Amino acid sequence: MAAPIIGIDLGTTNSCAAVVGEAGEVKLIPYKGGDFIVPSVVAVDGRGRELIGQEAKRQAQLNPLNTIYASKRLIGRPYRSEVVEKMRRLVPYGLAEDAHGGVVLKVGKSTRTLSEIAARVLAKIRDVAQEHLHQAIDRAVVTVPAYFTDRQRQAVKEAGRIIGLSIVRIINEPTSAALAYGAGKKLHERVVIYDLGGGTFDVSVIEIRDRIFEVRATGGDMFLGGIDFDDAIIRHVLDGFRRKHGIDLTTDPVAMQRMKDLAERTKIDLSARREAPFHVPFVAMSPQGQPLNIETAFDRALLERLTSPLVDRTIAIVEDVLAASELTAVDIDEVLLVGGQSRMPLVQEKIAKLFGKPPSKGVHPDEAVAIGAALYAHSLEENSPLRLQLLDVIPMAIGLERADGSFHVVFPRNAPIPNAKVVQATTSYAGQTELAVRIWQGDHARAGENELLGDFLFSGLRKGRKGEAQVEIIFDVNVEGILTMRAQDQATGKAIKTTIRVTQS
Ligand code: AMP
Repeated sequence: MAAPIIGIDLGTTNSCAAVVGEAGEVKLIPYKGGDFIVPSVVAVDGRGRELIGQEAKRQAQLNPLNTIYASKRLIGRPYRSEVVEKMRRLVPYGLAEDAHGGVVLKVGKSTRTLSEIAARVLAKIRDVAQEHLHQAIDRAVVTVPAYFTDRQRQAVKEAGRIIGLSIVRIINEPTSAALAYGAGKKLHERVVIYDLGGGTFDVSVIEIRDRIFEVRATGGDMFLGGIDFDDAIIRHVLDGFRRKHGIDLTTDPVAMQRMKDLAERTKIDLSARREAPFHVPFVAMSPQGQPLNIETAFDRALLERLTSPLVDRTIAIVEDVLAASELTAVDIDEVLLVGGQSRMPLVQEKIAKLFGKPPSKGVHPDEAVAIGAALYAHSLEENSPLRLQLLDVIPMAIGLERADGSFHVVFPRNAPIPNAKVVQATTSYAGQTELAVRIWQGDHARAGENELLGDFLFSGLRKGRKGEAQVEIIFDVNVEGILTMRAQDQATGKAIKTTIRVTQS
């Protein structure tokens, strides 16, 4: 029997894989000791050995500079961007610019691209799956945040190529969770998927009509997730320590890593309990050489006070996406919560208030995305009995830069995919043989405020007067949200040579 296509949830903090078995049942692929989660962490230890997953996470405290986590936030990002600047302040590992304006990470004695890091995590998942299934796995459906740009999707595909894993389809995480909830159940419902994971927030409004899953609108924030909640706790503790001892701990990576781990544990505890201690012994030395400890405590009310602005930001995005879908809260049959951070009671309360009903218990917040990916993977197999149709949208407008720097939108936000558009262009001076087009993705009116997808160069135009050559530029966004462009001479119908200079990271 041919090896199955597996479904992979390549998460910011944790990844997870699932597969549909011969009897049509979906199963998560176990990793270690019955756990299904592979931490998305890659490290190089003091002896130059590479560690991935649990082993890498376990030694993070001792080796913060060479332990890469949350790198999904950086994948496919230009080095000179606000996102990368923010990340630099949050993580202990080193970031640098590569020759194409992308980001590389310093690990051990070498540097790695973001695609290489993602490839290591994918390789680990594939190896675990192979061992479990006793079959060579070479195909996967991989999920990405709905809010991923074209470049980020390309970078994930590249990660697959690096390790010879064919990513047969990229699907959006919320859509995948909706599949886990509704595939094969003959539902007719409108659902909201609220996905608050370790690093990103995504929300989609999806209409399920039996086997058709149609995304009506999507939105999110690439910079809003569990680590920001941890960070709110850390900042509170750091401020207290600075006030008390006049010492700034932010410059000590080991102390920061210890606090990071404890902040996350405290936050998770406070989802189930009302109080949690926060003790970090021997965190610094006083000027007199006395060891100093952090000894404080959190209760749920304090955590909520520190983090409710973050939850409110998610709620505002949900309201926006609902409006974009032309629905209101009462039209929604179920709200599905996905992602570990959605377990926070405050999130559940605010969602219940907005929709006038408690969120659904229909999907497992950590497993739904991988399960949906496996179901979709199964539906792509030859002769599959499972038939699913996904109608997705692009999360942010795609367009080109006009001469005055304004943004000419080719596909608006929430445009259905696959999709194609034709844009007419012409030469702006006599004898011009090349046409350069700069493509951006985002929702700002100024092109440069958005994210650069690439510079496309159409060359070999017939020489003529200014404005004589009529060029048709065809923009194609495929089912995965990936853009390709080509151009043709309108008079001759001849294709024009296209070169893309997209920096890959
Ligand atoms: P994910 O990316 O979906 O694996 O989500 C991981 C994030 O969820 C991390 O930031 C975790 O700290 C957070 N998380 C996991 N469990 C809980 C919980 N019970 N309460 C609050 N946050 C949690």
